[in-house]
Order: sequence, then C-alpha cells, then structure tokens
Amino acid sequence: MDDLFARARAVIPGGVNSPVRAYGSVGGDPRFIASAAGPHVTDTAGRQYVDLVMSWGPGLLGHAHPEVVEAVTAAARRGLSFGAPTETEVELAEAIRDRVRPAEKVRMVSTGTEATMTAVRLARGATGRDLIVKFAGCYHGHVDALLAEAGSGVATLSLPGSAGVTAASAAETVVVPYNDVEALEEVFAERGEQIAAVITEAAPANMGVVPPEPGFNATLRRLTADHGALLILDEVLTGFRVGPAGWWGLENEHDGDERERGTSGARGAGDNKHDSDGDGDGEGWVPDLVTFGKVVGGGMPLAAVGGRADLMDLLAPSGPVYQAGTLSGNPLATAAGLATLRLADAAVYARVDEVAGAVADASAEALTAAGVPHRVQRAGNLFSVMFGEAAAKDGVWDYTDAQAQETFRYPPFFHAMLEAGVALPPSVFEAWFLSAAHDEAAVEAILAALPAAARAAAEA
Ligand code: PMP
Repeated sequence: MDDLFARARAVIPGGVNSPVRAYGSVGGDPRFIASAAGPHVTDTAGRQYVDLVMSWGPGLLGHAHPEVVEAVTAAARRGLSFGAPTETEVELAEAIRDRVRPAEKVRMVSTGTEATMTAVRLARGATGRDLIVKFAGCYHGHVDALLAEAGSGVATLSLPGSAGVTAASAAETVVVPYNDVEALEEVFAERGEQIAAVITEAAPANMGVVPPEPGFNATLRRLTADHGALLILDEVLTGFRVGPAGWWGLENEHDGDERERGTSGARGAGDNKHDSDGDGDGEGWVPDLVTFGKVVGGGMPLAAVGGRADLMDLLAPSGPVYQAGTLSGNPLATAAGLATLRLADAAVYARVDEVAGAVADASAEALTAAGVPHRVQRAGNLFSVMFGEAAAKDGVWDYTDAQAQETFRYPPFFHAMLEAGVALPPSVFEAWFLSAAHDEAAVEAILAALPAAARAAAEA
C-alpha cells in the first residue's frame, strides 16, 4: 500500500485526484480502494471497512447496487458516448423535475462544479449584474468565483481561498457569515443593485453539518427577490439524499409522510413545517436555480442545474448564455442516475434516516461517556461531530464557530475507527454518509468501534 502511495505521489500531485482523499488533516496514508459493495469498501491490502464516506454522498443505495450496475452495464453494451441526445437523459430530466418542483427544466453536466459554474453564469446573464454572494464555509466546487472562504478541502487545508484566482474574480464575490441575516441585509443595502445571485448550500455540510436556522433559506428567497437578484440553491450534496426532493423538499413539501427535518439543537426549533417561510401565509419558498450532483449520478460523473423554465431557456442553444459538454448527459451516467432515482423510494429514505439517527446517537453517547465535550449536528440524515466546549454549549452556526472547535480531537478518533474497520471521512469538516445498504451488522460494527475511538478523542 505504501508503495502504491509512493508511486501515486510520483505521478499525481499529492498522490490523489481530489485533495480531501489524502489524509492531510488526520495524518497517515490514504487507503487505496480496490472494490466496494453495499456498506463496505475493501482496500488493496484486502482489508474491509464499513464505509461512512460513500464516495462523499453518491452512495445512497450502498456501493455497487446490483440494479444500478446492471443498468450501467446494459448501457455500456449499447455504446459509451454518442455526443447526441438520448432517451435516457430525457427520462432522467423528467425524473428530476417530477421530484423537485423548482427544477422546471434541467441541463446535465458532469460535475457539481460545472453545475454551480453554470448557475452563476446563468444568473449573471439573466440579471446583467456581476456580484455573487456566498457564505463562508459553504463549498460549491472549485469555481474561481466560489472558492473564497470555501468549505470542504479548502477548509481542511485551512486555506482562505486558492492561488490562481484573479483579484478581479475574487472582487466579484462577496462572502457573508452563514445564518447571519443582518450581514446579508447590509450587503443588499449597500450593493443590492449589483448582486446577480446569492448561492447557498441548501443545508451546509462542507464545514461539518451546520443546519440553516429555521426560516433562513426563506429569508434568502425574500431578500434576493426584493432586490432583483436570483437565489441559487446548491443541492449537490443534499439533493436526493436527505429526501426525494432534497433539502428544499424537507422545508417545503408537506405530503403524507412528514419527515422530521432533524435540525437537532436548532435555535428556535419547532418551526411550523406548513409555513416554512415563517410569514404566516402557509406558502413555501422556491429558488430560481437548483444544482444537483452526487446521488443524481448514482456514482457516475453526472450533475445538473435546474430551475425556472424562462431562466433555463437562456442557456444555449435556446438563449445567449453559453454552456456545453462533450460528455454531458453521458449514457452510462444517465443510466446510473435514473436507476438510482427509481430505486430511491420512501423505504430507502426511511432506512437511511434510521441508520443515520442510530449512528449519530451512538456517537454522541460514546463521546459523552468518554467525557469529550462535543455536539452532533444534524440536517436531515446528514450529521457530523463538532468537538469542544463552545460547540457543545452553543452549537456551530457558521464557519467561525466551525473553525473554533477542538479539531485536534478528530485525528485520533478517525484512526481508532479506521483500526476497528470503520472508514470515516478523513476530515472533521465533512459530513458522515450512511446508505440504505447499512444493515444491522454494519451498524453494529460502527457502534462497537465508537467507545474506544471516543476514549482516543478524550486523550488527545
Ligand atoms: N456543491 C456542493 C454543496 C458540494 O458538496 C460539492 C462537492 N462536495 C460541489 C458543489 C462540487 O461538486 P463536484 O465535486 O462534483 O465538482
């Protein structure tokens, strides 16, 4: 394995094709994965781990779900890429639209980064304005304009942004603390006429999991609309994972099975789910553009931007905003995405919610028993552990809070879990991902590993 990492480092920068895969913040060498099935990954040394990374989100059904693999295999036999329209991409676009009402039309791309990049260009094209407002600690992919104070790997590496982003590009991005309505109101008061869009993670999970305060997203909707700016809801991570209509659905859809939003510890929790914008009229809120990735591609490179039909029609060839891709809507990727969405029924979400709840609760119990001050923060079935007295007492509501936690407790916790055969995300700033394939045995293995890991965190 070491040998493989040495070979990797000789030909691949840092030995990895995406920074967080390196164990930069937890120490040690990354495991090279040879195969994965259900809730497990197996490394090149033949060691099997219960996986809580799930490819950083796509694995809602578990790794290599047989029906998804079959759909991809069948598609591969018909041809790998045509560079021409296909029936499957129409079916996938319809499936997205049917689940997520704000996505009246959908354009497919290959990565979440392309989806947010396209959404930003579309917002600028539609409004004729330049400024983009983002929140500190939110990650929207490695788009120049969106790397300022970004979460995920940028947070893990403690970077303010990235070298290579021009000053001009950075100047067109205004960064505001998350969950801070006043700061946002100030920005709109000062520069409202220049703002093309506010982009936000529907429920941030790239600085650890930091749920929006009740009504926050609805307030973003109101403020942007008041000032002629667009609201871009980034559901790359949450879309089709926290529920069939993503986080937007949890806040706005109130049919039959009312699922808990699970914003445990939320200030002012107990908000009225039938009036999610909190203004008493019982109406929900609708973003202008929504970005999807991860689950929508079922483990293949596929992402999408969707939104209001009139805005989406501004994209080429129907409109003047250019956007394109040789492999966009790739037939293998659309087959995987379509099979995944079709399999992701209510039972799947119920199972993911259940196992996520069980692991989150057990993590909190183990850490409490070991005397580690912490708070497990949840947003639907996404959660992560925040370490330290301040987090335990007041919760983590923005990037400043997230950075102030006792991050040094995570590496020994992570490695104790890994030793016990449980692969957590190799950064404290990432969410833990469960799947419908996490069966009782997998959950038991996680629960069994937690007490020793908690003691390791206590000794840090
Ligand atoms: N937006 C969010 C919220 C994400 O979590 C990510 C990836 N973690 C992206 C955008 C970028 O997606 P990709 O890595 O596919 O470019």
